[in-house]
Amino acid sequence: MKILIVEDEPALRELIQQTLEKERYVVETAEDLAGAMEKVGVYDYECILLDLMLPDGSGLSLLEEIKRLRKKESVIIISAKDSIDDKIQGLDLGADDYLAKPFHLAELVARVKSVIRRKHRDGEHTVTVGNVVVFPDKFRVEIEGKEIELNRKEYDILHYFMNRAGRLINKSTLAESVWGDHIDQVDNYDFIYAQMKNLRKKLSDAGADIEIKAVYGVGYKLIG
Ligand code: CA
Repeated sequence: MKILIVEDEPALRELIQQTLEKERYVVETAEDLAGAMEKVGVYDYECILLDLMLPDGSGLSLLEEIKRLRKKESVIIISAKDSIDDKIQGLDLGADDYLAKPFHLAELVARVKSVIRRKHRDGEHTVTVGNVVVFPDKFRVEIEGKEIELNRKEYDILHYFMNRAGRLINKSTLAESVWGDHIDQVDNYDFIYAQMKNLRKKLSDAGADIEIKAVYGVGYKLIG
């Protein structure tokens, strides 16, 4: 679950980043509009936290760009200007939520979880495919009611596929989502293979009736 923070104030940006990393999100940051535009043009995110007053323009321009590119990022505006006009304009441009500064970090986390829940699960707190249930708020996975132990990356991979059951996911998309944007610099994706192998074994040993199948030369697909 990868999140982009677009915020020019370093202290706040770092604080939000640390908070979300504690919640086990993969966090990327941009400190201005140009940086954010570049990131959004190249990478995909689950959710973008968007400051409106940026040194080189308005965060609303990023919303327009996301719309133009027909991307599916959820956007939460975080703005110091608690102006009704900005709020309406932002929501009109497709923002999912609006949080006025200053805000409590706990509330920000709750809003992030909520927009992601709405996006993938119609507001449900669990994700179920076959006999496998993921509890994202607790990082817990159960098969037939019994918890299975996964390491962090195994969990992240499974959660990612559970939200995209039946869809073919290419390796670079998976790597960027689970490991972070920097991963597009690597020469090969062998590290995915190792994690995937362990995850598939754990699922099969625990009696899961779902399978993450390799699609040769392309990536993987979760079959339920
Ligand atoms: Ca600002």
